[in-house]
Amino acid sequence: MTISSLVKLIDVGPRDGLQNEKSPVPAEVKIELVHRLQAAGLQEIEVTSYVSPKWVPQMADNHVVMSGIQRKAGVRYSVLTPNLKGFEAALLDQPDEIVVFGSASEAFSQKNINCSIAESIERFAPVVEAALAAGIAVRGAMSCTVGCPYEGEIAPERVAYLAGLLKGIGVQRVDVADTIGVGTPRKVQRAIEATLTHYAIDEVSGHFHDTYGQALANTLAALELGVWNFQSSVAGLGGCPYAKGATGNVATEDVVYLLHGMGIETGIDLDKLIDAGVFISDFLGRKPNSRAATALINKRAG
Ligand code: MG
Repeated sequence: MTISSLVKLIDVGPRDGLQNEKSPVPAEVKIELVHRLQAAGLQEIEVTSYVSPKWVPQMADNHVVMSGIQRKAGVRYSVLTPNLKGFEAALLDQPDEIVVFGSASEAFSQKNINCSIAESIERFAPVVEAALAAGIAVRGAMSCTVGCPYEGEIAPERVAYLAGLLKGIGVQRVDVADTIGVGTPRKVQRAIEATLTHYAIDEVSGHFHDTYGQALANTLAALELGVWNFQSSVAGLGGCPYAKGATGNVATEDVVYLLHGMGIETGIDLDKLIDAGVFISDFLGRKPNSRAATALINKRAG
């Protein structure tokens, strides 16, 4: 397998990132962030989640955000839908894609949603069916595909099992997520290969966290297997609620710097992306959590 000359990034900052931020972010700031991301060339943006505001108050403005975005042609807007009720609310806002999720770790599934992996996927079956019937694409986020905060290392067979369950209910493509960022390149490759027993390479994306500084190495390892879809978060937005001190998603700026340096096209304007990261980081009262952004901002100042 040769490394793709083109990579598509899904910026999950507005949802996966901001969901884990403690300070509330007003809808108009989220909308502006989405506008800046699409202006920077992002073609896929995970915008919000239709989860109970009781559990995730940060996403209570899902409808305001989705209906406030001036959509750009060719951009795919995805939203997280944890159940049928969430999907029905999301449907009114016409997302291009919904995201359902499952864990490769049985302990993680039990601790977080109080049911087995198989039960959790069964619950998603009617959501997937309804989405596909409405002409909406369906992505499946697979968490803890390398390691779990409760179980430790996760065997590739567990990843294959989860991928098979998602395929079985009609999920069209999946994310291989290293939720707590403990993965290293070979382990990440084993998780991706396990996923490839059920999904084609074009249907698999990598989602890496930088907790141990391995996210870019893991990205390269995934590229080597032919993966060309990745998730990242502008300014490295978001923490990880499951592992103390763990960082959030790898910063989109860092991934773009890596890819462009390798001559891989992303369609993203790194300068505009950095500005988008500065915009949201300014609002949150801190600097972007991205090495590439920090270096390029310092260079601009110099
Ligand atoms: Mg994440």
